[in-house]
Amino acid sequence: MEKVALLKCEDYDVKLIEEKLREGFNLLGGDKFLKELIPYNKKVLLKPNMLSIEEAGSPVITNFNVFEAVIRIIKDYTSDISFGDSPGFGDPLKAAERSGFLNIAKKYDVKFEDFKDSIHVKLDESILCKSWTIAKAPYEADVLITLPKLKTHAMAYYTGAIKNQFGCVPGSLKATWHTRMPNANNFCKMLLDLNTLVNTNFAILDGIIAMEGNGPKSGTPKKMNTLIMGKSLSAVDSTAVRLIGYDNPLDIPLLKEAYDQNWGEVLPKNIELLGQSIEDMKVSDFQLCRKAGSFYFISPAVTNFLRDLIAPDPSLIEEKCIGCGRCKEVCPEKSRVIKMIKDKDKNIPTWNMKECIRCFCCQELCPCGAIELKYSTLGKILKMNKR
Ligand code: SF4
Ligand code: SF4
Repeated sequence: MEKVALLKCEDYDVKLIEEKLREGFNLLGGDKFLKELIPYNKKVLLKPNMLSIEEAGSPVITNFNVFEAVIRIIKDYTSDISFGDSPGFGDPLKAAERSGFLNIAKKYDVKFEDFKDSIHVKLDESILCKSWTIAKAPYEADVLITLPKLKTHAMAYYTGAIKNQFGCVPGSLKATWHTRMPNANNFCKMLLDLNTLVNTNFAILDGIIAMEGNGPKSGTPKKMNTLIMGKSLSAVDSTAVRLIGYDNPLDIPLLKEAYDQNWGEVLPKNIELLGQSIEDMKVSDFQLCRKAGSFYFISPAVTNFLRDLIAPDPSLIEEKCIGCGRCKEVCPEKSRVIKMIKDKDKNIPTWNMKECIRCFCCQELCPCGAIELKYSTLGKILKMNKR
C-alpha cells in the first residue's frame, strides 16, 4: 500500500500551510519519515511549477507560500537546499523573480538553479528512452522534492506530480521531445522514464487554488483547498484526479501508462489515504479540459491514425489574439504547422492540421489565452487547413 496524505488547507497563509504540511508529514511517519526522506545535510532540490514568467500568486504556478512552508520544514534536516525549473517559455531567472520564489529563497539561503547547465546521461532500465540530455541540478541532487500545481492540461488531461518534471529538460529541448514522441502513449512513457532518471523522491501538490478549463496556463482558478503529499508520484496524481472528476484514474493517459508499466501505484484500492477522504474533498463542478476516453489506450499505430479523427484541435479565439507569434515560436513542428497571416491590423496564426501532432504547446504557452481546444468531428477534421 502506498501512503498519501490528503489535507484541507483553506488559505495561502504560510503559517497555515506549514501547519498542514507538518500534519501531513506526521501522518506519513513524522520525524522518522523525514529523516529517511532527507538524510542529514543531503542536497535537496525543490522543483516548483514555473511554467512561464508569472506574477507571484498566479494560479498557473505553484504558490510561493507553499514553497516557503516546505523550506521552513525541511531546513531542520539539511542546510543544502536549492530550487529551480526550466519554464516552457522565457528566462528562468525572470520566472523565479516574478513568481516570488527568488525573494523567499534568499531569505532562507536557498540557491537558485536555472537548469541551463545540462548533462548527457543514459538510463539503461528505461521503459522507452535510454539517452538523455537533462538539467544537471535535478540529476545531481540527492533528494528531489517536486512541488506541482493541480491543473488541467490539454494534452495530458491533467498535470501534477509526474508531469512537473518535464521542466527538468532544459529550454528548447522540450520541443524536441514532442517531435520525437508525437504519439501520446510514448510521450507518457518518456515522462515516466524522466522521473526514474531524476529519481523524484517526494511530491507536495498545491491544489489550494487549482486550475480548471483551458489549462495549464489559460484556465480558470478553482478553489479546492487541497494539499496532497506522498512518496509515490502516481499515487499522488491518482488521488488528485479523483478529486476533480476522473473517478477512474486509469482514464488519465499518464496514469494508465504508469499502471501498464508497473511503474507506480495508481489503483485507489492500493493507496492508503491519510487525513481527509476523497468524499470530503471532491468537487462536483470541476471543469475538465479533456473527457475520459480510450483514445490513448490502444497501439501507437492506431492512435496515430485516430488522432486526426478524434483528438481536439487547437483553435483561435481571435479577439484575444495580439499577434505576438509565440505560438509559432514554441511549436515543435514550427512553420510546417503554424503560419502567421495578416488579418486586419495584426498577424494571426493558422494551422495546417495535417501536420499538427496535438502536443498543444501553442495552447499551453499563448500569453493571452487565445487558443482553446476544439473537439473534432469527422467533418471538421477532413478539412486540412483551418483558422
Ligand atoms: S494565438 Fe496567442 S501566441 Fe499566437 S499570436 Fe495570438 S496571442 Fe500570440
Ligand atoms: S500547432 Fe500547436 S498542437 Fe500542433 S504541433 Fe504545433 S504546438 Fe503542437
